[in-house]
Amino acid sequence: MDRIREQWKVFDECSKELALPVHHTIGNHDVVGWSTKSPVKPTDQDYGKKLFAERFGLARTYRSFDHKGWHFIILDSIGQNKETLDYEGWIDEAQLDWLKKDLAATGRTKPIVMVTHIPFYTTWHQVMGGPDLHLDGKAIVRNLHTFRKLFDAYNIQLVLSGHGHVVERIEIGKVTYLQGGAVCGMWWKGPVFGKPEGFGTVTCRRDGTWSWKYRDFGWKARK
Ligand SMILES: [Zn+2]
Repeated sequence: MDRIREQWKVFDECSKELALPVHHTIGNHDVVGWSTKSPVKPTDQDYGKKLFAERFGLARTYRSFDHKGWHFIILDSIGQNKETLDYEGWIDEAQLDWLKKDLAATGRTKPIVMVTHIPFYTTWHQVMGGPDLHLDGKAIVRNLHTFRKLFDAYNIQLVLSGHGHVVERIEIGKVTYLQGGAVCGMWWKGPVFGKPEGFGTVTCRRDGTWSWKYRDFGWKARK
């Protein structure tokens, strides 16, 4: 737990230097103890999403906001596998109820950016493992298929994700799914698929269109 608190402190100090407002999306590494490798036990008072929720400033770990004609939905896609107690990609029932209401209130025309740590769709596992590879519940949002059709009625332009550390762009119908790479690349050990360590910037325009650019910030892994 000391290590976790120390890491949040370092993160806060770095974030302070950013000129832009920061809206975090919860990722699997932000949840305390939901890993088979974690020494933090379920009996610990800070086990789970408590620390993140406190920093988020809400009782829940998902929310939305409007900015200059666009609607941004920040999801919590980190579920817990009840058998292994490890994380899995999952949007729970309470959040889905909230999401349905949030979309209905947004209406059918306003452009929407959805943010989810674990991707809705991803292909790089098959690139590496072949076409028969079955994705486990850690690679994608496992229950997405049960509510996917809900999105068809709305102007969802972009679904942004992280998790896989790859830069990946998938377009299906009206929606573009962007997996944004990683500032740490291959966990500070070098580029992923030859793509340098970096981050993406998305420009959302008032006319409802957008553009995206991946940025190499010049960091190089020490060999
Ligand atoms: Zn992740």
